Amino acid sequence: MTTLQHICIAGGGTAGWMTAAALANRLPHSHYRITLVESAQIGTVGVGESTIPHIRQFNSALGITEDEFIAATSATCKLGIEFTDWGKVGESYIHPFGELGKPLAGIEFHHLWQAASLQGLDVPIESFSVAAVAARQRKFSPPHASREHLLSTYTYAYHLDASAYARFLRDYAEQRQVIRVEAQIREVKRDHEGGPITALSLDNGEQISADWFIDCTGFRSLLIGDYSQAEFIDWSEWLKTNRAVVLPCEKDGPSRPYTKAMARDAGWQWQIPLQHRIGNGYVYCSDYISDEEAEHTLRSTLPGEALADVRFLDFKAGCRKQLWVQNCVAIGLSAGFLEPLESTSIFLIQMGIAKFLEHLPGTHNDAARNQYNRELTEQYQVIRDFIILHYYLTQRHDTPFWRDCQAMTLPDSLTELILAFRDSGLVDKKQYGLWPAVCIGQHLHPKQVDSRVAAIPPQQLIGILNQLKSDIAAQVATLPNMDDYLSSLVAQTPLQKSGMRAGGQV
Ligand code: FAD
Repeated sequence: MTTLQHICIAGGGTAGWMTAAALANRLPHSHYRITLVESAQIGTVGVGESTIPHIRQFNSALGITEDEFIAATSATCKLGIEFTDWGKVGESYIHPFGELGKPLAGIEFHHLWQAASLQGLDVPIESFSVAAVAARQRKFSPPHASREHLLSTYTYAYHLDASAYARFLRDYAEQRQVIRVEAQIREVKRDHEGGPITALSLDNGEQISADWFIDCTGFRSLLIGDYSQAEFIDWSEWLKTNRAVVLPCEKDGPSRPYTKAMARDAGWQWQIPLQHRIGNGYVYCSDYISDEEAEHTLRSTLPGEALADVRFLDFKAGCRKQLWVQNCVAIGLSAGFLEPLESTSIFLIQMGIAKFLEHLPGTHNDAARNQYNRELTEQYQVIRDFIILHYYLTQRHDTPFWRDCQAMTLPDSLTELILAFRDSGLVDKKQYGLWPAVCIGQHLHPKQVDSRVAAIPPQQLIGILNQLKSDIAAQVATLPNMDDYLSSLVAQTPLQKSGMRAGGQV
């Protein structure tokens, strides 16, 4: 007979409810019992609205349909991120989701574009991305199903109301037997220091014993933070921003299917369009600018009327040395934090859940723990390097913050990646092929192009690229505006059919 294992999730923010929903969906109820403890008095961090395309796999694995998700979270679709004033003041580029151009004879597109540009082609690389061209025109439709079609060459994510998403997942999880306990955790109990957690003592006098404890308590890291092996590795020497001021506002017109990331004097400012409002925030480093200056910058550049009071948040870039210690796994902000420039936190939550499910053994197992820790910390590091890249590649000299970003000594892992791209346009596969858009967008061009390009006559190459650009423009012209697409989708979605509550809270 199998003994029933008990998993206790501490915390009910995005991380807690994503974990609860996924575990309830994937683990057999005959073997696992799941409890989640959260405290409305403590609340959640309440931000985290921009995502990357992997969230669609998460929803789909849970059997959540796109229309019910979009209706419940007031989501809009996201085709990429527009970076303004990062390379130089006055410039902008889009990091699109999906392919940049098309490879030719096995040669990656950025080599073809570089060679054609050296031969006189004067077209920005983003004109060869369906996602970027559609984003600029505020158009959207899901990609074409046929892989031969040009409109199949992109992917997309969402902008969502994070609190509504957590509520939506809470309903989902509770319908699948997850027990929610509303209380504050007062004490984390162990038999001996450094040993496995045996129970959580709550302020209502209850004790929750379990086999597994998932720490989703956010920056407090209530459970994992007590283990010395899980010390926090500080990356703030490279990722200098440590504070954000946030303020939602009214919409300024049709929704943009992309996140705006605008470089400012001491950091950058986001604009994230939802169906009913725009999320705004200025992420900055408090060594270079005061709270008052940051708030003034944010308020004076809001695209619409403010809808709430400003909120300030503190954070520090870094990650736990070990994210799984004994019977405790940290998922979400308790595991680490990388600033939201590339909207990767929810993705890291997803990775944590997926790997936990993969490694969840019947017994407490060192090998599984070690592998989990290696794989997850590597993910954090890959994303860390990608975010640092944006700061390092700036050519801005106008403020001390940007001058210091250019002068920083990079982690060795990133130095190597930059040299490989600078020398010959090589992109490490672990970097998800994301590099060319950002490097080229910020003026890092390979010194040499792939030698195989020389076999293509220059005029032929330019002709192929011009044709591709026209084909993309023609195909994008057939797409609907994103707001029209969303209205038709939401109109067809009776929320009652799934029993889910709608979002909409600021
Ligand atoms: P929290 O939301 O803080 O939840 C913690 C939970 O633990 C709460 O339920 C709380 O009540 C509970 N808790 C804590 N202590 C106790 C206790 N003693 N007893 C009981 N319960 C307790 N991510 C993205 O993917 N995209 C973005 O665009 C993005 N933007 C961000 C912008 C900023 C400025 C910041 C700071 C973060 C951003 N993130 C973003 C990250 C994102 O907000 C988080 O990854 C996400 O919200 C998950 O948070 P969490 O659930 O780990 O923590």
